[in-house]
Amino acid sequence: MQTTVRSSVVFAGAGLHTGKVSCVTVQPASAEYGIWFRRTDVNGVDPLIPARWDRVSNTELNTRVTNADGVSVSTVEHIMAAFAGCGLHNAMVEIDGPEVPLLDGSSAPFVARILSRGLQMLDAPVRAIRVHRPVEVTHGDAMAALVPSDDLKIDFEIDFADTVIGHQKKSLNMANGGFVRELCNSRTFCRKADIDEMRARGLILGGSVTSAVVVDGDKVVTPGGLRHADEPVRHKMLDAFGDLALAGFPVLGRYIGRRAGHATTNQLLRRLFSDPEAFEMVECDARTASRLPGAGLLREDVLGIAA
Ligand SMILES: [Zn+2]
Repeated sequence: MQTTVRSSVVFAGAGLHTGKVSCVTVQPASAEYGIWFRRTDVNGVDPLIPARWDRVSNTELNTRVTNADGVSVSTVEHIMAAFAGCGLHNAMVEIDGPEVPLLDGSSAPFVARILSRGLQMLDAPVRAIRVHRPVEVTHGDAMAALVPSDDLKIDFEIDFADTVIGHQKKSLNMANGGFVRELCNSRTFCRKADIDEMRARGLILGGSVTSAVVVDGDKVVTPGGLRHADEPVRHKMLDAFGDLALAGFPVLGRYIGRRAGHATTNQLLRRLFSDPEAFEMVECDARTASRLPGAGLLREDVLGIAA
């Protein structure tokens, strides 16, 4: 069954780029509505922006969606990953600024609040996108692919010069709470040198060592260190999962990413949807629905989130 939030859920915090505090209210929505953002701080223009792959307008440091009037919301990937990981299919996401708060740099605060409020079942079956034929994109030294699989699996590999990150590889079946248990609390990460450079370019006015894992060569600068030894690759999987959620429906397929970022995953969805033979929309039967990322979550999963 499709779901929505049982009642509104509120988050507030600073955005990474503007540094401005904004407030997000996730409101219930009816079946087949999907996920939409609504900017409550704009006048005289269309405030509604669909959370959809073909509305992605910028992927340099995060994922931004923009409507035909040029109204946008940035850094949607972590909250989109939370929605997909919780099995939330329909919501109106009101926001009073241009950027979703970064919070701790992971999806855990979103997941914890949404699941503690609870989901409401709606009287409509879940539809999903089943990958039929492999699709692949390369983008510089990055690669992403989707190949047929009965449920969503993510394989990811990264390679960084900083020895504290180095080469990391992880595979995870996202069925039945895999995202909530294994990925949702992994924070965004960056090199100290990149932060200094991006600050100089005015690209990040918010963010701090409490909203990202900051690394410098062989050291983790962030107090408290890592939440997982391989937290960086887990966060890249979280990002890919959030960007894939912009497909608008759960994806049934294996995602393979090597050094892939927001741009690569968005190009992958564009490639998939440009080929009608590569995918089909399916109505999930009980067996398939029981293997979706948000199905079968337990109360212990929610309590176990280290946010
Ligand atoms: Zn991220």
